[in-house]
Amino acid sequence: MAQVETVRGPVDSSALGSTLMHEHVFVLNEEIRRNYPADFDEDARVSHAVAQLGKAVQRGIGTIADATVIGLGRDIDRIKRVAALTPMNIIVATGIYTFSEVPFYFRYRSRRMTASREDPMTEMFVADITGGIAQTGVKAAFLKCAIDEQGLTRGVERILRAVARAHVLTGAPVTVHTHPASKSGLVALRILGEEGADLSRVVVGHSGDSRDTDYLIQLADSGCLLGMDRFGIGMPPSLPWRADTIAALCQRGYAGSMVLSHDAACYIDWYPHDEAKAGNYTYIHDEVLPALTERGVSAAQIEAMLVANPRRYFTPAT
Ligand SMILES: [Zn+2]
Repeated sequence: MAQVETVRGPVDSSALGSTLMHEHVFVLNEEIRRNYPADFDEDARVSHAVAQLGKAVQRGIGTIADATVIGLGRDIDRIKRVAALTPMNIIVATGIYTFSEVPFYFRYRSRRMTASREDPMTEMFVADITGGIAQTGVKAAFLKCAIDEQGLTRGVERILRAVARAHVLTGAPVTVHTHPASKSGLVALRILGEEGADLSRVVVGHSGDSRDTDYLIQLADSGCLLGMDRFGIGMPPSLPWRADTIAALCQRGYAGSMVLSHDAACYIDWYPHDEAKAGNYTYIHDEVLPALTERGVSAAQIEAMLVANPRRYFTPAT
């Protein structure tokens, strides 16, 4: 039986159930939090996250993939506290999130300094996947990187290539944050492909921000999965447009090429905290699935996007 690493340990891939493929629990700048802690009450934030994830479990969601990596405030000890108090499976990631430069930590560390000649960040990603993250005993089960409207900067290219190398070395799949308006998904796939990545194990994240079906089909025809993943967080286009795009792709035979998610967070310090809006992991079940059904998307197609495609992404052999 193929197993997937979660915060509570390995889970059979058949037990993941409905899986939201790009979520966050906490996104924050750890340096700001430690120096200006007034805004962050650790116990209250953990309780709130447990409550929000509990609502999603009630709606039938079994698993979230938490795409929070270096640059977004990943803290596995905090996620472990949450995971211990909710039945939700939480899958965590490794990687680096930046739109431009690498963090200074990496700037003067190069592959020449490592015995294996791998980029030091590749070795860190591989260690997170194979050995666990920072003595927590929790293993990362996917890789995350980003390419936004700044395009393929030197820093972004270095991280994309290091993520692709870690994917090739470990078999862990990849999620890329992209900027569909500049079609950066195509650039990401080119770089990952050059490093030998299996594009069927890549989610091109934030593809749902695009209404350009030609672009989306061009991506999907490479074999990747399209992340239709910013539902209910106030990012344009609005729900009817997003649902129209998914229904159109389903009609053209691409239900096997899409996954769904919110890109929600229970706490994100990029904005003033709004408890009422934070961590809505049920919007897809409450609003999106009815809108898709109304547009002729079948139960089997919804099942593919929520269950079968995520399962295949994490465990391709099953
Ligand atoms: Zn995200």
